[in-house]
Amino acid sequence: MTLTPEPTLAKPQPDWEDLRMDFPILNQEVNGHPLIYFDNAATSQKPRAVIAALVNYYERDNSNVHRGLHALSNRATDAYEQARLRLATYLGADEEEVIYTRGTTEAINLVARAWGDENVGSGDVILLTELEHHSNLVPWQLLAKRTGATLRYIPITDDGRLNLDHLDALFEGPVKILSFSHISNSLGTINPAAELCARAKAAGVTTLVDAAQSAGHLPLNVRDLDCDFLVFSGHKMCGPTGIGILYGKKAILNAMPPFHGGGEMISTAGYFESHYKESPYRFEAGTPAICEAIGLGVAAEYIEAIGREKIFAHDQDLVSEAMARLEEIPGLRILGPKEGRTGLVSFVMESAHAHDIVSMADQYGLALRGGHHCTQPLLKKMGVPSSARASFYFYNTRDEVDRMVKILIKIQKFFA
Ligand code: PMP
Repeated sequence: MTLTPEPTLAKPQPDWEDLRMDFPILNQEVNGHPLIYFDNAATSQKPRAVIAALVNYYERDNSNVHRGLHALSNRATDAYEQARLRLATYLGADEEEVIYTRGTTEAINLVARAWGDENVGSGDVILLTELEHHSNLVPWQLLAKRTGATLRYIPITDDGRLNLDHLDALFEGPVKILSFSHISNSLGTINPAAELCARAKAAGVTTLVDAAQSAGHLPLNVRDLDCDFLVFSGHKMCGPTGIGILYGKKAILNAMPPFHGGGEMISTAGYFESHYKESPYRFEAGTPAICEAIGLGVAAEYIEAIGREKIFAHDQDLVSEAMARLEEIPGLRILGPKEGRTGLVSFVMESAHAHDIVSMADQYGLALRGGHHCTQPLLKKMGVPSSARASFYFYNTRDEVDRMVKILIKIQKFFA
């Protein structure tokens, strides 16, 4: 299959202010103030090109994929598969290695079940890090409970980086998988993914990279990383909710049993036994999220047209400005490393609970997130019950960072 130009794709401009215009939602007031959307680590906003692709699909092409022989079904199938090709290109993978899931969470559960039940047994070790999101903890805890395997953790330093000093010892024994986040959603730490994958490979350990926070924010190539699995969610990278990707190496995927059984994943079905298709269809039982997959393909192309290096540099500019300015606020402490972090800053204030900060920020139109960010064990380890988090994307501006700092100064004074 070859890629044809997407008629609904807006031509992105290299100018950040112009790009911002592609996001109609940003142009609104909240509580009488211009919206400052700094909750991008939870979910990003969607550009017109993606919204148009969703509308276009339902207005023109809506039909079930792979099953029909009529025009609409063929169009829906082509668009669905073309999106898969786009995403494969985005990742440096082959189409058969790109499986649609509901998101990062479902993708990790798929691997923990389908790969884990076959490959992990009693006494084996599942290696994780202390930085993980609950999505990359609980599925492995469930696997450990089912199989009698044990969990082991790469520890973190006081400033929230992975402590790799004793990595060799951590790989000792029957370690079966290393599953780790590329970027911590809670602290912003960027982990050395290629190095970790290489160390795991040398030890004969399978790897899963949770790229939920990195897929839309920095260049990512699965061949360069040499990971066995990589997972992410569409909604954090300009795509719709309800769609995400599991990348897996072809040979590993085709050796795995299915996760869900149902229509479209079989080559032949009988009353007592069925045979399964190869990847990716083996793992896509039932009617998939067709429109969402198409939207995610457009999102990936939109991001690619801007350039992930440029997005990364822009994020870096905003986070370094934010960190320098936030340090000036009395009683405010930034969590996580000073360097080697993405466009995200988590902080605590001596005088105010994170929920109070976030609620008051909302009164000024500033959208932050407060709580444990689905990383309860990590925050406990850092000695805080919760934090407030500002997370940026390419449509955010230095002016917004400046306004956030002024709002936080008001909040600090209010609670002092
Ligand atoms: N891992 C990380 C690092 C995340 O940031 C998130 C979302 N906050 C997830 C996993 C889960 O993603 P989803 O809820 O889209 O499945």
